[in-house]
Amino acid sequence: MKKTYYTTLSLITLLIAVLLAGCGGPKNNSYKRDFFAMDTYITCQVLTDDKALAEAGLDSVEKAFLEIDQLTNRFSEGSDVFTVNEKAGLAPVKVSEEVFTIAETALAWSDRTNGAFNILIGGVMDLWGFGTEKPTVPLAADVAAALNRTDYQQIVLDAAQSTIFLPEKGMALDFGGVAKGYATDKAVAALKELGIGNAIINAGGNVYALGNRADGTPWRVGVQDPQHPKEIMGLLRVSDAAVVSSGDYQRYFEANGVRYHHILDPATGQPARASAGTTVIMKSATVADILSTALFVKGPAEGISLAEQLPQVEAAMILTRDGGVYGTKSLTGYLAGQ
Ligand code: AMP
Ligand code: MG
Repeated sequence: MKKTYYTTLSLITLLIAVLLAGCGGPKNNSYKRDFFAMDTYITCQVLTDDKALAEAGLDSVEKAFLEIDQLTNRFSEGSDVFTVNEKAGLAPVKVSEEVFTIAETALAWSDRTNGAFNILIGGVMDLWGFGTEKPTVPLAADVAAALNRTDYQQIVLDAAQSTIFLPEKGMALDFGGVAKGYATDKAVAALKELGIGNAIINAGGNVYALGNRADGTPWRVGVQDPQHPKEIMGLLRVSDAAVVSSGDYQRYFEANGVRYHHILDPATGQPARASAGTTVIMKSATVADILSTALFVKGPAEGISLAEQLPQVEAAMILTRDGGVYGTKSLTGYLAGQ
């Protein structure tokens, strides 16, 4: 069986998005940093004339991603999420305030999306081996068995003790669909705290556009064409909001000519086929990250309908595998001519 594995996680994407977003005028100097965290190339650009302030801002962005990575990486021995999974069926585990908050938010949205986002998808993800050297198409019986350990309603969160308990062995939290969003929010808060008002962060399709470009106009964020990921199919004009995209081109492998990607439909344990790409614009990067994954699983009809019902979603777009483009009514207001 011939398999090819790609972890595009889109250095190219990031570059395209930031380049398009960052062609500023002469008003401010701009300082950039690229770094690697959460299995992703992350780029950040801040606009200010104060070099020391810019460096402090870039430091705090990098720190936010590295810290959240350390806490939430479920493959890293000793991380909070690793330990919670290790103690599944055995004992509650005391976790940091941040991991508790992410778990609470993720659980609430697992419910709100009727399980299209499922924070307990870890056991099924492991069978596919995304992110490992040897991803593979698992046996149907193994998928069925792992799906029996994805009932997120069984997770026990104890706010007073700050503990998380997974009651059954084999249950596994997976923060892959939310941690980058949370880290983005943390990074943006740190920039604001320092008094930086104009910046753009791009963490593997998790973009936050803080303030405006140097010429005072909104940042431009490119949306990748899932069929041709090196190309931009549209530009969004955004200011003070997260623009989070999920896509079947971000992380996948091919086996026998079929592309298997990393966003699973928790109803089947198979890669979700209802969408090829999704983009969500809203203030909270954490929730935008969750929803980009959930809308992908739901597909255009249900996904756009859910997005329309949620007042905190400013706009959403769903692209399908046959080239269809679906959006909330508000989407056109964000589409930029150039
Ligand atoms: P994203 O790129 O934000 O759509 O997140 C994809 C990542 O989230 C995957 O790499 C998994 O770690 C995790 N994941 C995959 N499918 C789901 C799902 N249905 N619900 C929650 N997390 C998921
Ligand atoms: Mg996501």
